[in-house]
Parts: sequence; structure tokens; C-alpha cells
Amino acid sequence: MRAFEEIEAALEDEEFQSALSKASLGTQAKVEEVLRSRPELLALAEEVREIKRAAIARLDELLEQAMNSLRAVRATPHLAETAEEAREIVGKLIGRGKLVVLSKSMAAAEVGLRPYLEAMGNEVWETDLGELLIQLEGTKPMHTITPAVHMSRRRAVELLEKAGAKVEGESIESAVRAAREFLRGKIVRAQAGITGANALAADTGAIVTVENESNVRLVSSLPPLHIALVPVDKVVPTLMDAIKVAMVQSAFAGLYPPTYINVISGPSSTADIERTRVYGAQGPVEQHVVFIDNGRTAARKGALAEQLYCIRCGRCQYECPVWIHTANRWGGPVYGGPMGLVWTAITYDANEAAKLSFLCLGCGRCDEACPVGIPLSRLIRELKAYAMRDLK
Ligand code: SF4
Repeated sequence: MRAFEEIEAALEDEEFQSALSKASLGTQAKVEEVLRSRPELLALAEEVREIKRAAIARLDELLEQAMNSLRAVRATPHLAETAEEAREIVGKLIGRGKLVVLSKSMAAAEVGLRPYLEAMGNEVWETDLGELLIQLEGTKPMHTITPAVHMSRRRAVELLEKAGAKVEGESIESAVRAAREFLRGKIVRAQAGITGANALAADTGAIVTVENESNVRLVSSLPPLHIALVPVDKVVPTLMDAIKVAMVQSAFAGLYPPTYINVISGPSSTADIERTRVYGAQGPVEQHVVFIDNGRTAARKGALAEQLYCIRCGRCQYECPVWIHTANRWGGPVYGGPMGLVWTAITYDANEAAKLSFLCLGCGRCDEACPVGIPLSRLIRELKAYAMRDLK
């Protein structure tokens, strides 16, 4: 199996190992410090755990409410049952020969969106710096929040220069400056911007995103067309619930306080002339939300259902003794680590996840790390049991 060869190569790569160990220790310490100094965030995580449990229990009803709320704010909702449908919906909205900018979205990676749009003849750029480096390297995100966690400064500069960014000097600051100039040139000319979402509120249709780079703001507001990809498990009842999800995600990712929390409810508009509402002011003229099922509804009834509470903070990855040596080389084609194994089983292929599950040590550190109380080690044991029972 190719996945095992990739894991072996990662274990022998000294640069990869050193970058991961630094990032894991640094993030673990940061998260612990944030939680020690702000115990109210632990209480908020408890609250989010209940919000997610209740939301997944009434997902069908919330999804319908979310679609109606989106229509009420002049956004257009779509529901994609599969990854293929999601790609096709977005492909039709964008068409061919366009300049498209993306903000980091595991949902976009899950459905294979960037290569699909490129194959249609579009020029597509990731605008999150880590994700841009992944695009330039031609590999997969190595962590949910920090996709280029495995990469050295030398490699980052090399990739940016190859893409045409003008990096002056070898400092990290000059690499970030060069990426900013390079990406600005793309974002201001883009005809479509695609983002993910941390949560979507059923009561208002508001999309909530949390970020530090400000690229999500630009991608969702400068191009005339904004498309948001929203896995159905991200729908929560209210806008306040959605903001709480974003706060907890950023705290448990070690990025607290978040630099930006964005709330987007429909395309831009103005009613400044004769109180007549016109859509398309300074921001997008058109907004579409593509809800992605891709195995999630089916998973609600199965042994892996609790994974649907996941808020993608990535803490279980940094705490996992196996992930610290493999990053997302272990876990499946898109997701990785403890949460990744289960997401791979839900959204891609249970057989592949089951084979890879035997690398899990069953230590349970991921269970303790998870803000929403997902019993990851038990879910991974389910995958092992499935492998023993059903795999030939
Ligand atoms: S499983 Fe828990 S710790 Fe891991 S990414 Fe999801 S919410 Fe975070």
C-alpha cells in the first residue's frame, strides 16, 4: 500500500521530523497556556460540545432551516450528496477560463476541487500561505490548521521563488512579504472567491469563519462571486452558536485570540438611494453556499457518528505520538492523524482507514485533547474491529 511507503519515507526525512517535533511541542504549550489563563474557554468548549450534539441530532431540520435562511438573505443554497456533485456544482457556477482564489478549506481538498477547476481551464490559487506552499509543492495539507507544518524556511522560499514571487533575502518575514504581494495581485483580479466555513447558522444563514491572515476576508469580499463550501455537520442552530464554535476552534488550535472572526450573511448590498435595496455594493454581487454531505448523513446512524461533532481544531493531531512523526502522511488521501482516520472512513473509504488504523497505539491522548469530547481512540478501535471482521 502506497500510504505505508509514504509513512516510511517521512520517518527517514530528518527535516520533516525536526519541523514536526518543533511545531507539536510549540502548539501543545501554547494551547495549555491559553486554557490555563482563560478557564472560561474550557466552559465554552463544554457548551460547544452540547451545541454540536444537539445540532447533529436534528441535522435534517437545521439544514432545511439554513437553506431557507440563505434564500432570505439572497444567497443561493445547493446540496451536494457526493464529492463529485460538489465539484460539478462549483464548476458550473465558475465556468471556464476564470481566475479563482481559494481560502484554506479541507472541504475543498476533500472533494478535489482545485484540480477539477484547473482541469476545466481555470487559473486557481490558494491564498492561505501554508496552503499556497502545499499547492506549489504538489502535496497534501499536513495538518488541519497549519498545512505546511512540515516545511522548512529554505523550502518555502524555494517554492515561492519558483512560482514567481520576489523574495528578497532569506528571512521568514521576506517570504511572507513576497507571498503577500504575489497573492494580492491574484485576489484583486479574481472573478470568483471560494471559502470554507467554521460554522453556518441555521437561524440566519450566516457563515462564520475564523482566521489570522485576513485572506478569507479578501477572498470572500473582493471577487464578484463568493462560493462557500460547508460540510453539513457544520450547521448549528444560531449565529451565537456559530461564533462560539469559532472561538473554541481557535483556542484549541493555539491561535487565541483569533485575529479575525468573519460573519457573512448573503451578498453585499446597499439601500442608500431611495431606500431601494440593490445587491452588489463593494463586495460580491452573488453568493452561493454548497452544503456537502459525502457520507456524513449515513455516518449519523453508524458507529462513527460522534466524529460529526468535530470542529477541526487539529489538537488531537499535535497530541498524537504517531502523528508527531508522520503528520498527515498517515490517515488517508486528504485528512490525517486520529481525526483524519475517522474522517477518511466517513468521506472516502472505510477500507483504507481500517488498514491504516493499526498504526494507532490506543494511548487515548487524543480523547483527552478533544474540546468536544469525541472518543477518538474508541472510534479508531471500531475501525480495527471492522478490519478484522470485514477486510479480506
Ligand atoms: S477530533 Fe476533536 S481534537 Fe481532533 S480536530 Fe476534531 S475537534 Fe479537534
